[in-house]
Amino acid sequence: MEQYTFSPVGIVQNHIEKPDDYRKIKEKPSTIEVYETYEEALTGIEANDYLDIIFYFHQSEPATMTETHSYPGVLRGVFASRSRRRPNLIGHTTVKLLERKGNKLLVQGLDAISGTPVLDIKNCDTSLFAYEYEQNPVHQNKLKSSPRIDIRNEIFANRTESLMIKAAQSHGHYCPGLALGIMAATHAMNHLEAESDGMEDLLAITETNNCFADGVQFVTGCTFGNNALIFKDVGKTAFTLTQRDGKGVRIASRPESQQVIREAFPDFRELYKKVVEEQDHSPEIMAEYRKTALDRAFGTLSIDFHKLFTVKEVETEIPEYAKIHDSVICDRCGENIMKTRARNTGEDTWRCLPCGDDPFYKLDGNGIRL
Ligand SMILES: [Zn+2]
Ligand SMILES: [Zn+2]
Repeated sequence: MEQYTFSPVGIVQNHIEKPDDYRKIKEKPSTIEVYETYEEALTGIEANDYLDIIFYFHQSEPATMTETHSYPGVLRGVFASRSRRRPNLIGHTTVKLLERKGNKLLVQGLDAISGTPVLDIKNCDTSLFAYEYEQNPVHQNKLKSSPRIDIRNEIFANRTESLMIKAAQSHGHYCPGLALGIMAATHAMNHLEAESDGMEDLLAITETNNCFADGVQFVTGCTFGNNALIFKDVGKTAFTLTQRDGKGVRIASRPESQQVIREAFPDFRELYKKVVEEQDHSPEIMAEYRKTALDRAFGTLSIDFHKLFTVKEVETEIPEYAKIHDSVICDRCGENIMKTRARNTGEDTWRCLPCGDDPFYKLDGNGIRL
């Protein structure tokens, strides 16, 4: 059989000198000292709450095939146990990262004695847990009958942090703009005691198409695709949530809101200057910048709502429900087109706007334009 050789990347330091009851070892924090040659490999590790530690049972006895140790009387194969007497004497434990100081990691939950050689450190993969949670049949049935139930519960409990984590799954990043959208929309939903089924009975009128609008879309369920989102291209961080009867609430960011956020996170400005203006992309600066940006996005959620926004009850004119239009086929490209967007080119022949070189509206980062 081929042989492989490993060399440790670090060493465990704690108060336990002899292999002991693993629960006792886990009780107190341990330090993992990473050897200096590997210090660069720790870049950005602070972003992880949990780590997988792979280590070598350097004082363990030779491997056995079965194990009765942990549950007396119950015989289990070594591969069905966490026994330290194993073929390759490799240990693997998920730990909580408490703190990093240079090349030292303070962790909780490690069951390795002092002096244990550490072979590898990885960020913890939780995707399988998340998948299994989402696939849980009871939860899935609940979501099939009421797709927004989780979001609704979080709105009523004002759990803006949890809402932002979900909204960012489509927004792609965390930022104060998204946070403001989440806050404004959560407030408006609670103010109107509104529920949303994406059928245009509840409408959101956004006055901007930046990050804020994504927070509004996620929390209110009024989106670009279900026609419950109306876009007024006026460039204000503001939106109105309204029922079909036109009674609603408009929430607008205060003129000083940017300043309030800036003052709440003074470190960000400096780092922003370094990274964006001076283009300093060194790993340490980038790691600090990302962490500060994240703290700022989540921290925005806990700024006093009324320091950031004004709230006003309003009456709005509501458009009719979106009509369903017939489709026709373009005589050039052969694609289906909504009849109201097609040009009649003869007796029941039609042409789409792009094929006919006709002007049409576009919404992009710069707003709506022809
Ligand atoms: Zn954003
Ligand atoms: Zn066409």
